[in-house]
Amino acid sequence: MARIFNFCAGPAALPEAVLQKAQAELLDWRGKGLSVMEMSHRSAEMVSIAEQAEADLRELLAIPNNYKVLFLQGGASSQFSAIPLNLLGDKTTADYINTGQWSKKAIAEAKRYCDVNLVGTAEDTNFSTIPAVDGWSVNSEAAYFHYTANETIGGVEFHDIPAVGDVPLVSDMSSTILSRPVDVSKFGLIYAGAQKNIGPAGLTIVIVRDDLLGLARDVTPTMLNYQVQADNGSMYNTPPTYAWYLAGLVFEWIKEQGGLSAMAEINQRKAAKLYSFIDASAFYANPVEEVSRSWMNIPFTLANSELDKQFLKEADESGLLNLKGHRSVGGMRASIYNAVGEDAVDALIDFMQDFEKRNG
Ligand SMILES: *Cc1c(COP(=O)(O)O)cnc(C)c1O
Repeated sequence: MARIFNFCAGPAALPEAVLQKAQAELLDWRGKGLSVMEMSHRSAEMVSIAEQAEADLRELLAIPNNYKVLFLQGGASSQFSAIPLNLLGDKTTADYINTGQWSKKAIAEAKRYCDVNLVGTAEDTNFSTIPAVDGWSVNSEAAYFHYTANETIGGVEFHDIPAVGDVPLVSDMSSTILSRPVDVSKFGLIYAGAQKNIGPAGLTIVIVRDDLLGLARDVTPTMLNYQVQADNGSMYNTPPTYAWYLAGLVFEWIKEQGGLSAMAEINQRKAAKLYSFIDASAFYANPVEEVSRSWMNIPFTLANSELDKQFLKEADESGLLNLKGHRSVGGMRASIYNAVGEDAVDALIDFMQDFEKRNG
């Protein structure tokens, strides 16, 4: 069996050890004679799997006790509407900052429910920057402040938590959660689709502070109501049990790697290697301002875009998959999440070096 290096932005690579464990337990979970996929979500076994996953995630992120952790469906995209529906309360406006494609989608959805105060936008730099803090127009009357911690498509990342006073801070961390430690107590709500850095698609995690529960508008669909989901342990209906189990295996794997500080060290080193190679080359380029470069998603272009197809074809043949940039921006993109090892980054750099030698 040959496993390739997978640089997919999502659904993304999973740790091989996790897949092996899932394989070993596929038919018979711990001597119970059935697969996790076949268990009632209310069985003692599944409840123990669910609780262990939550406990491990709480440990990894040091989530304070006054936060609920919800294991939901619908992807991060469903949260674009769940957030205004649940958090606006009697307020009519929310702050959003536009740093790329995912912020734009969150903003478009929020506009269906409230006035969006656009705190800042990086549209003028083609989303290669984060708007400077001194230009932000933060509204103290806003119900919350929303930002996309890491723009998966543009490769732009906030490396500091924005200071927004008393307004609850809400963050889409889909493509950066678990890449490093984060001070959860600074946030009102954190959400993430699982298929980047947590597990398989089909699961969405919401970490929400207790005081933000119970504010949902009457029209909020029951399934999107945080209070209902919290009251029911995320089992108001059948949750994505197998994805939840796999996420639990990933949390366990991260703990075995030494937790989030260890992940951060590896991730920073991986990203620094690739960026410094790109910067030293006249053949490759990354458009993002240095201080806002993502650790997880690294877009790059070739000096001659006519070579893009050949680059991707030869990369494929060399076992380096899914390097095509998002259809909205073109070029290439290497997504180097937790499960993409330093060996993958080394192999990519070797290939890029060789390709440049032959075509530069
Ligand atoms: C992938 C992604 C989304 C969309 O996630 P879905 O689970 O497909 O809805 C939203 N925001 C960010 C930052 C993403 O990377």
